[in-house]
Amino acid sequence: MRSLWIKNPLAIMADAAGGVVLRKGCIAELLKAGQRPSNPVDEEFDAGRHVVLPGLVNTHHHFYQTLTRSHPQAINKKLFDWLRALYPVWARITPESLRLATRLALTELLMSGVSTSSDHHYLFPAGLDDAMDIQVEEAQRLGMRLTVTRGAMNLSEKDGGLPPDSVVQDEDLILEDCERIIRHFHQRGDGAMIQVALAPCSPFSVTKSLMTKCAGLAEQHDCRLHTHLAETHDEDQYCRSMFGMSPLDYLEETGWLGSRTWLAHGIHFSDGDIQRLGRHGVGVCHCPTSNMVLASGQCRTRELEAAGVPVGLGVDGSASNDSSNLMEGVRHALMINRLTYDVSVTHMDVLRWATVGSARCLGRSDIGEIDVGKQADLAFFSLEDLRFSGAGDPIAALVLCGAHRADRVMIGGEWRVLDGLPIGVDVYALRAAHGAAARAFL
Ligand code: ZN
Repeated sequence: MRSLWIKNPLAIMADAAGGVVLRKGCIAELLKAGQRPSNPVDEEFDAGRHVVLPGLVNTHHHFYQTLTRSHPQAINKKLFDWLRALYPVWARITPESLRLATRLALTELLMSGVSTSSDHHYLFPAGLDDAMDIQVEEAQRLGMRLTVTRGAMNLSEKDGGLPPDSVVQDEDLILEDCERIIRHFHQRGDGAMIQVALAPCSPFSVTKSLMTKCAGLAEQHDCRLHTHLAETHDEDQYCRSMFGMSPLDYLEETGWLGSRTWLAHGIHFSDGDIQRLGRHGVGVCHCPTSNMVLASGQCRTRELEAAGVPVGLGVDGSASNDSSNLMEGVRHALMINRLTYDVSVTHMDVLRWATVGSARCLGRSDIGEIDVGKQADLAFFSLEDLRFSGAGDPIAALVLCGAHRADRVMIGGEWRVLDGLPIGVDVYALRAAHGAAARAFL
């Protein structure tokens, strides 16, 4: 990348009214109003009509679920009934449909201003052994950063779990694939495009043995751990009756209570649990939209942050959201947290969760902020739609008026969205192909 001055933005989430200078894919300089770059630049981009945010970071998703949105057998159900309705449907997923689902979810995320995502893929019916490889290929095609989390399920109905036999795998096979994925794809250090985390699905779909062995593997390979925890009261009761302990005690017993772990949801924690999470540096991905759709509960973000827990934001899977739009998730986060607490939860709080908070959950200090030395991952929003007319504070307007489509997105200094459209993707053809593939799941 040549050097570029993003000049005089309408507003920017940094102390840089004069804009930022980018060199070699990173942010090299922040400029005050009226200040010019200290060295000559190759190009200038006038950002006078743009509100500039750090590229958003999505820390929980299930891309494959875009194939089963508003599914007639699952709508209007709580988590366990919703899952029981969908497991047999999801068992029909193929490599081709996963590829389209991944491409569609990543494209949607990118168009909403996301530069980095993670995906929790735990569904490996027969024939889908290459799920992780497919996801990595699709992220590389779009030029997005992706943390693939190698999910797993190995506790089926016959052993007291929730999923049917058709969607679970053998423990040895899972662990072997985890090692293969880490070896092939896990990049380390600043600027990583692909990272790998290990992610047994949830207490009610995996064995304690698998949880414990994944924690050991993560330690050995220095990668992160991710799972669903404390999402519903049903899960809490399940843990107490199946394992004789709370979800957090379960986490500790399996070796997961540490700073390489981030949890999806993290709703039903006691005051004592929250202090323990903070002491051990476990991150929590808040999924406001999904939590409201499934009536799962309200994440205690304020207490978690006060205890030192990194809080990030995720859209969650597209059968419980049912979209992949993180800016929409930012707005939902503001609203549900205002209801949980009060008006002291601000638009800057929720934007912080979707950027630097999420980056911390993924264990990254090189993204999520507009600052010198960080990756040049930026999302540009214009305020030209009717919904913004009359808006005063430009950054607050994104959240309060409901921005959900970025005008431009840059990742590592490369433009990936221009004039609201992702580069290299025919969105109409993608819509048609994905829609056709999804008909097999009805
Ligand atoms: Zn989830």
